[in-house]
Amino acid sequence: MKTTMDPPVTLELPLAEPVPAPGCGVCGALARQRAEYTATGNPSRATDCSVEIRNHPHRARKGRRS
Ligand SMILES: [Zn+2]
Repeated sequence: MKTTMDPPVTLELPLAEPVPAPGCGVCGALARQRAEYTATGNPSRATDCSVEIRNHPHRARKGRRS
């Protein structure tokens, strides 16, 4: 018997669009580029931007000492 309770498998979507980190200019720029690539029919480039956003390192907080 099959149930219809199972959610769809999402394992094939490793690159769901990451959210750019708030306040990060790099992520913000990448997000804009991604939107442009998406709008201009260049999904592979858009994916590249998503990867960069996802991989962009951020520190949780900046210490005040410097
Ligand atoms: Zn960033």
